[in-house]
Amino acid sequence: MSEQLIFLDGNFVKKEDAVVSVYDHGFLYGDGIFEGIRAYSGNVFRLDEHLTRLYDSAKSIMLTIPYTKEEMAHIVAETLRKNDLSNGYVRLVVSRGVGDLGLSPYSCPKATVLVIAEPLRIYSKELYETGLDIVTVATRRNRSDVLNPMVKSLNYLNNVLVKIEATLAGVPEALMLNDQGYVAEGSADNIFIVRDKKLLTPPGHVGALVGITRNAIIDIARSKGYEVEEAVFTRHDVYTADEVFLTGTAAEVIAVKTVDGRVIGDGKPGPITDELLVSFRELTLTDGYKLYDELHVAN
Ligand code: PMP
Repeated sequence: MSEQLIFLDGNFVKKEDAVVSVYDHGFLYGDGIFEGIRAYSGNVFRLDEHLTRLYDSAKSIMLTIPYTKEEMAHIVAETLRKNDLSNGYVRLVVSRGVGDLGLSPYSCPKATVLVIAEPLRIYSKELYETGLDIVTVATRRNRSDVLNPMVKSLNYLNNVLVKIEATLAGVPEALMLNDQGYVAEGSADNIFIVRDKKLLTPPGHVGALVGITRNAIIDIARSKGYEVEEAVFTRHDVYTADEVFLTGTAAEVIAVKTVDGRVIGDGKPGPITDELLVSFRELTLTDGYKLYDELHVAN
């Protein structure tokens, strides 16, 4: 790859020049929003859905994004093209912008917008074959009436604390419950359980980000004739499920083999998880925004 270029407030700049002011409220207060997006062989997977979520998050926190959705789609695509990445991960960040030290967002006249595109770093191939061990952590999901998890905000301390707990426990991901003890999600992934060929995943109001991958899996599973329900469930339902898997832009679909030491199913990725992963990967090649008019073979 030639030198990495980052989109920052209207310009493409070198990585070392991609710097943001210490007075940016994204840095001072976590005041902003973001998206994690992925391109597969020149197709930006469900870019429109990612941008809808971004603009919904912006509306919810009264943040004005200085580009239309269409302009933003072009910026994301152009960042991938400039870095010659047909396959890659995109981080799109919109912060409140530069203001003064006060909390008020009204001191920030203009949002900061940046887009970073990089090759992917994901779980090893082996982990997809074996599945993950996860544990429930003590940190609970932000309550929806405190900081709604449906807003993909720059305030990810809740998730960071979960990641710390998982790391200290020696596992790569964790199960987060909401304040009432119902299953919410992972630190950066949604959760599905499968029982008697029926899929369950928590609804957003329980305390989950409504993931783009989650929604794609719901579409795929239903198109294959599986029943899928957004339902409130407990750890007991997770422990006794036939299959458990996590979904996310970076993780795609990954099986869970143990939860708090309880072996799920026969301790291997289950057949429905495998089937959904295969179909998901097929969908990632077609459903989205094309980077190039013609087939372009880079990386
Ligand atoms: N939950 C959280 C807290 C996340 O950060 C993510 C990753 N964006 C997800 C779920 C999965 O969402 P998506 O499938 O849109 O990546």
